Amino acid sequence: MSDDKELKEKETSGESSGNGDSGKDDEYEKVCFLCRRPESKAGPMITLPQNIHICMECMQKSFDTMNNSNINYNDLMSHIPNMGMVDFSSLPNQVPKRQRIRKKQKEEKKAQFTLRDVPPPHRIKAMLDEYVIGQEHAKKVISVGVYNHYKRALADHEDGVEIEKSNMLMIGPTGSGKTYMVQTLAKLLNVPLAITDATSLTEAGYIGDDVESVVSKLLAVADNDVERAEHGIIFIDEIDKIAKKRNTNQRDVSGEAVQQGLLKLLEGSRVEVPVGANSKNAMVPMTTVDTSHILFICGGAFPDLEDVIKERLNKQSSMGFQADLKDKYDDDKDLLSRVTVEDLRKFGMVPEFLGRLPIIFTLQGLTRDMLVKILEEPKNAILKQYRKLLAMDEVKLDFDKGALEAIADQAMKKDTGARALRAILEEYMLDIMYEIPKDDSIGEVVITREYVEHTGGPRIILRGQEPYLLENGE
Ligand code: ADP
Repeated sequence: MSDDKELKEKETSGESSGNGDSGKDDEYEKVCFLCRRPESKAGPMITLPQNIHICMECMQKSFDTMNNSNINYNDLMSHIPNMGMVDFSSLPNQVPKRQRIRKKQKEEKKAQFTLRDVPPPHRIKAMLDEYVIGQEHAKKVISVGVYNHYKRALADHEDGVEIEKSNMLMIGPTGSGKTYMVQTLAKLLNVPLAITDATSLTEAGYIGDDVESVVSKLLAVADNDVERAEHGIIFIDEIDKIAKKRNTNQRDVSGEAVQQGLLKLLEGSRVEVPVGANSKNAMVPMTTVDTSHILFICGGAFPDLEDVIKERLNKQSSMGFQADLKDKYDDDKDLLSRVTVEDLRKFGMVPEFLGRLPIIFTLQGLTRDMLVKILEEPKNAILKQYRKLLAMDEVKLDFDKGALEAIADQAMKKDTGARALRAILEEYMLDIMYEIPKDDSIGEVVITREYVEHTGGPRIILRGQEPYLLENGE
């Protein structure tokens, strides 16, 4: 399976299913038919026919109710119309597997996650290098951060020294590789990853997902295996969108309140989460997940943050004898990397929230050269994917340097980083993918700058012949 495919599969399982409908029945805990608590919480269960399980407490309560009422059973039945006609065997007797919790593994299997599973920072970075172009500083910071995070998770606290949690905040323009870097990391480390959008979160009790839903999502990706989830990564994207709303008198249920709600998760606490569903209700079994060893990575583009930084820098440098020009920082491409916690606080992030994200780093906006490299260099580069597709038709695909530059130029104009590349390339490749299989004699296609700029066609080389130019994509 290609790496990209693997990544996608992980991602989709995070979004939707990841329901663990695979696996044998005895790997899952029994769930009480009445109170819906799993075996680990409600204790041993009595098993009735039709695979119905009832916990001792509910059984006792049922007996108590019957004993306390003076009505005898037949009277009761006659008081409740149609009660006698209920066919118990037709009731859904099984909790769906996606809502069931995997049993805790035995002790000897438990010691599975060791420091040996986590490569040292230089190896993590080397692996990231194969996929992520540029962003050297970010890759270095994230490699060290992740390594330390798992060291902390596996350290003992006997000497009284407790290593603090190293949650991270990633700041970088759209399409600069924030999500991609985290996805790649989770794949390399083989830990579950849940990706959530901060904009979908609201304060508990309001329309939207409450903050604990992010842990539910991770649990689903981890196949309802609580232990695996507890060593996973949660990526919260668009974190800048939950900045404190300015000039508002209303309750800020999707901004400041969400930041407040996230505090206890980021810090590490035991949370009750619904299994196999996003919201808590009486019919969904609940389980407890400890978030102390879950790595939280928040990411955002922070669009107006540059102005805040500029304002601060200008203020600093416009005082005293060595006053600078006011527009000194206007063209500074690396302005974002000068960010401080104070700037973020001004932007609208709550100080306690920032305090729980001790590692803050920035990603650069992609340059044209980086975009060209992204097209051809990563392990699963888009060009490699197209080459592979055409190779199946026994046709060689090549791109002139000029063509790649022209594509990168077009992507730069769209201002969505590397995200634009695929859409642009798709447009040019459509005709090629349509026409080439028609003609068996074609041995090689070279995409030229002229073809990308609509002033000519691709270069076609027939099998065993000299190259000739094809008119605009025909
Ligand atoms: P964002 O920063 O908005 O989260 P993404 O990580 O989703 O952006 O990037 C979108 C796509 O662009 C990724 O799927 C990846 O294929 C590509 N991409 C972005 N940045 C890089 C990079 N530095 N190296 C390689 N590919 C990249």
